[in-house]
Amino acid sequence: AAKRDGAGSVRRFEPAMLAGFRERIELESAFRAALQDDLIQPHYQPLIQLDTGEIRGFEALARWTTASGTSIPPVVFIALAEETGLITELSERLLRRACADAKEWPESAVLTFNLSPLQFADPLLGLRIIQILKETGLPPSRLEIEMTESAVVADFDGAIKTIRQLQDCGIKVALDDFGTGFSSLGQLANMPFDKIKIDRSFTRSCGDSLKQTSVVRSIIGLGHGIGVATLAEGIETTSQLELLKQLGCEYGQGFLFARPMPAARISDYLGLSNEERLSQSA
Ligand code: C2E
Ligand code: MG
Ligand code: MG
Ligand code: MG
Repeated sequence: AAKRDGAGSVRRFEPAMLAGFRERIELESAFRAALQDDLIQPHYQPLIQLDTGEIRGFEALARWTTASGTSIPPVVFIALAEETGLITELSERLLRRACADAKEWPESAVLTFNLSPLQFADPLLGLRIIQILKETGLPPSRLEIEMTESAVVADFDGAIKTIRQLQDCGIKVALDDFGTGFSSLGQLANMPFDKIKIDRSFTRSCGDSLKQTSVVRSIIGLGHGIGVATLAEGIETTSQLELLKQLGCEYGQGFLFARPMPAARISDYLGLSNEERLSQSA
């Protein structure tokens, strides 16, 4: 938060800040240790084709449970990894693990993987990813990289270059959390994304009012207009599901289908029928 303070602004010292500081140092050293010990691992949430209910793939979502049993949310430790310069290492470890896990899934299932906006400034990003695909033997066509609008906004030309580089290798690229990141629609039309992920906030309000619903309809229409499939994040209710299907949204994910699960649970999950899956998540 400190870096968001305007230039020259002075923050008065308060005892609470010291406590926060000590906590932060402890968290940081716990994080470094967890990284070394490989205690931060991907879990996986299924991506569903809405009209058929088929599983099209899984999104890798990083999970860290400390030795004392506290689970630290990814937004917290991803930010920590970014601030400490450890994001590249964390991401490489997670991707290596995730690609190895994905090799065990049916060939039709893609792995989608989140990258931090900071990573798009790394000129070696493409090479690092390709190296990991080679090492693990996962075909590039089974990997999809998720990037948020903030990466696009920070460096539009750089982002396009990276997307093209990945796509030239056969890797797909999705725009994550669409609608929350202030990229201009003009820019969007020029971005060669393969998929748009509609942010959970839109899914949640979809159906609340005619206006909310028409915002979601417009996003789906926008995707189709530029030739890109859409996926709705955070589907929690059957009425959201039905409405999104009606609006022509192709894919979805959310607690209605399944929560993120550890790698070891995926083969059981794949063995269930669609009905069994839905009743399990309810
Ligand atoms: P995201 O990429 O937009 O991931 C979707 C988030 O929504 C996940 O939160 C997921 O658990 C949650 N979610 C899925 N379905 C539902 C639902 O029906 N209802 C609700 N309330 N939530 C749902 P999670 O796992 O806490 O991750 C938060 C964010 O942290 C991710 O947002 C992503 O930006 C970031 N993140 C997670 N793993 C990684 C990673 O390996 N690398 C990077 N760079 N970022 C990651
Ligand atoms: Mg994501
Ligand atoms: Mg998202
Ligand atoms: Mg999100």
